[in-house]
Amino acid sequence: MNYNNKMWEMIEEIKSSGKIPKLLLHSCCAPCSSHVISTLTPYFDITILYYNPNIEPKEEYEKRKKEEIRFIDEFPNQNKLDILDCDYDNDLFHEMAKGKEMIPEGGERCFECYELRMRKTANVAKEKGYDYFATTLTVSPLKNSNKLNEIGTKLEAELQIPYLYSDFKKENGYKHSIELAKEYNLYRQDYCGCVYSKRDREIQKQKKSTD
Ligand code: SF4
Repeated sequence: MNYNNKMWEMIEEIKSSGKIPKLLLHSCCAPCSSHVISTLTPYFDITILYYNPNIEPKEEYEKRKKEEIRFIDEFPNQNKLDILDCDYDNDLFHEMAKGKEMIPEGGERCFECYELRMRKTANVAKEKGYDYFATTLTVSPLKNSNKLNEIGTKLEAELQIPYLYSDFKKENGYKHSIELAKEYNLYRQDYCGCVYSKRDREIQKQKKSTD
């Protein structure tokens, strides 16, 4: 399934309707959201949902959130662009990750981490009357786009809220996000977010330095 093509088919339909729908877009960080916002702002009123209970320590969570707010403020959006903040449900993340602490990045713990964040986004979108929900996560080459789109499709059916398909890394999307991060001088972290990814990155760095 080419989820990037599916997204553009959906956008073509939206364009022909002459409407500007309201999109609730889950974002993990400013660099990932940069390319996604630049792609979608001509077609949607976007609200960013910063829901990332996986990110630790708390200072890192706050730092990434601050950068997201700054980017939204500085980016020349075409339609509405704002942000909705959430509680830092870190306990919920740890409850989910229990017993999965040693699974390497990209495995089952990550799939549940995607779902935790996307489910919240779908729920808020439904509750607040958005037309679509989506996530920036598909821009990262380290994230499983098929899985993310499967989860989005499942939540759409379960909660009756339209999901915008995506594979934002396509069409040089990831490269563009790096260029925008440079242009806006955005903070780019070197680990995904949770304590386990931080631990694994430290081990990798130590290994490299002793090689
Ligand atoms: S590595 Fe990233 S996606 Fe996986 S559980 Fe940790 S924060 Fe979530």
